[in-house]
Amino acid sequence: MTELDQLSKLIDASENIVFFTGAGISTESGIPDFRSPGGLWEKNQPIEFSEFVRSERARREAWRRKFNMQTVMKDAKPNDGHHAIASLYQAGKVNAVITQNIDGLHQLAGVPEDDVIEIHGNGTYAKCLSCAKKMSLEAVRKIFAKDETLPTCSQCGGIVKTATISFGQAMPQEEMQRSEMEAIESDLFIVAGSSLVVYPAAGIPVIAAQHGAKLVIINREPTPLDNYATLTLNSEIGETLRTVTKV
Ligand code: NAD
Repeated sequence: MTELDQLSKLIDASENIVFFTGAGISTESGIPDFRSPGGLWEKNQPIEFSEFVRSERARREAWRRKFNMQTVMKDAKPNDGHHAIASLYQAGKVNAVITQNIDGLHQLAGVPEDDVIEIHGNGTYAKCLSCAKKMSLEAVRKIFAKDETLPTCSQCGGIVKTATISFGQAMPQEEMQRSEMEAIESDLFIVAGSSLVVYPAAGIPVIAAQHGAKLVIINREPTPLDNYATLTLNSEIGETLRTVTKV
């Protein structure tokens, strides 16, 4: 049996599927990932949370990168991988999509917001670090564009940052708890497009496998969690998921 046949069979036999996606699912939408050749890390090292809070220079650099990246992000559309997951969700097979991505493409493909668990936040808006008041990126851009003035919160004067989780920043508790619950309750846990080296996120597939879920990893290259997996496919996500879901 081919790997694709095996994946189809696992999907057919499962009722509580949970997807866990990383930057790799969005490369086919034109958004670079972190660790592939040409990925974001070849250009920039990430700015740690403590540095963002401590240094105005780091904050300016973070906003500069954000608005550069925004030119790609704002026009990105869901691809075959996102559509295949949404169609499995609509068929009642998928309980939740846990994503490390901040691009909102699962929701755009039709997975309801409530069932997309964003463990690294969302990059489509900004938030005050002190009082959590939301601010649109457009409002930040207007302040920043002319002379790189840093945005501050209109309610409390606090530091404003994209609503994403940076390295060194606390993980969102509710989302992490729900992810662990979903992992425990799943019968099939499918990772799509993650190098599985960023913790605590990468611990979630391990929890699923330890609680009896079959673990499938679809990723161009091997990952450190491959020995937990029932099936690994080193293939392109869009084509793989399109073929097995026939969307
Ligand atoms: P990563 O860059 O570490 O790993 C991505 C993996 O996907 C790589 O192993 C790569 O080989 C694989 N891949 C890339 N394109 C693929 C394709 N078409 N088919 C199959 N495999 C493919 O990403 P990560 O594990 O998600 O961790 C990095 C962090 O970066 C995450 O926290 C995420 O929030 C953030 N990030 C998000 C976006 C986004 O929102 N689209 C983009 C870049 C980085």
